Amino acid sequence: MPGTGFNKGYSMSMTVLAIAEQKDGKLSSISYELITAAQKIGGELITVILAENADSLAADLASHGAGKVLAVTTPALKYFNDEIYAAVVSGLIRKYNPKLVIGPATSYGKSLMGRLAALNDAAMASDIVNLHADGDRVIVSRPAYGGNVIFDLSGAEDKIFFATIRPKIFDESKEGTGEGEVVSESPDDAVFQSKTVVQEMVVESGSSVNITEADTIVAAGRGIRGKENLPMIQELADSLGAAVGASRAIVDADWIAYRHQVGQTGKTVNPKLYITAGISGAIQHLVGMQTSKTIVAINRDKEAPIFKVATYGIVGDIFEIVPALTKRIQAGG
Ligand SMILES: Cc1cc2nc3c(=O)[nH]c(=O)nc-3n(C[C@H](O)[C@H](O)[C@H](O)COP(=O)(O)OP(=O)(O)OC[C@H]3O[C@@H](n4cnc5c(N)ncnc54)[C@H](O)[C@@H]3O)c2cc1C
Repeated sequence: MPGTGFNKGYSMSMTVLAIAEQKDGKLSSISYELITAAQKIGGELITVILAENADSLAADLASHGAGKVLAVTTPALKYFNDEIYAAVVSGLIRKYNPKLVIGPATSYGKSLMGRLAALNDAAMASDIVNLHADGDRVIVSRPAYGGNVIFDLSGAEDKIFFATIRPKIFDESKEGTGEGEVVSESPDDAVFQSKTVVQEMVVESGSSVNITEADTIVAAGRGIRGKENLPMIQELADSLGAAVGASRAIVDADWIAYRHQVGQTGKTVNPKLYITAGISGAIQHLVGMQTSKTIVAINRDKEAPIFKVATYGIVGDIFEIVPALTKRIQAGG
């Protein structure tokens, strides 16, 4: 389509509704990734932000190319309550009639989007890594079998479709890439009725960086020998501004909390840099991290399976290499 500014396959008529995520009044990085993902469809983009004070967040999104930004501000949205959030967004879906609704594949998005799809009697694809429009259809790609297969799913032509976007796949949209209109939406009081009342949110102590959002992760395995050696890993992570990940072996041994676990029964991560220290590379671990952009593995066994997926491998003792790396990084490279 010369001259239209759209590549072949883009839909000029399809409306995409993106549901941004905020925590403690701050936009999560995935919110900007959703904008980039939605722009791949090429139709009208509407972004929704729900918060106790959504106005400044909406202005921020609008300046990042989020299209028309719907801001819903009320104290009832202070804490995430999927029942209330889903009722509010469902009202907006009825009003704006999007073809595709996307949200983040985070705890927030997973809880909200499944409920929304059910309320709207629609299909949903979770954890997608790509999407495009093909005429009036939305085609999304998602991994299966531990990331060994990527397959395409399509929404029905005449139905709304829901999808959650895997974090760290799409680039964050940049500031200054748009000046969208901000619209304040005020749903009826009835949608704020819920059987659940969230009294407070307590942040787990020690959870400095969330592994699913981190650009860099230093992950520890059984090779660290005991809980007392975790500070060595934490120090390397701190020197890089990284989050600490873990194999299931050390979670099961109670050396570190479950929220750090990467893998089949833990979290799927996709950072720019994933460093492993004393992790063998069992398939159940690999499925959670093998899409990381750069993988650096440190293991004293040169036959360890982790080296098959590593970009750079260091065969050696973590008790020598990890402190040496930390020292080097702290000294500025
Ligand atoms: C259904 C199921 C689900 C599972 N889900 C997960 C999951 O989500 N995530 C996960 O991680 N695992 C999972 N597992 C467990 C998985 O199979 C492995 O047991 C686990 O990942 C092993 O953890 P590890 O690599 O830390 O330990 P190990 O396999 O014991 O490896 C330790 C490694 O450290 C190296 N090492 C030891 N000392 C040193 C040293 N001083 N210097 C350098 N290297 C050293 C060794 O050479 C070895 O390679 C699952 C298993 C099952 C059956």
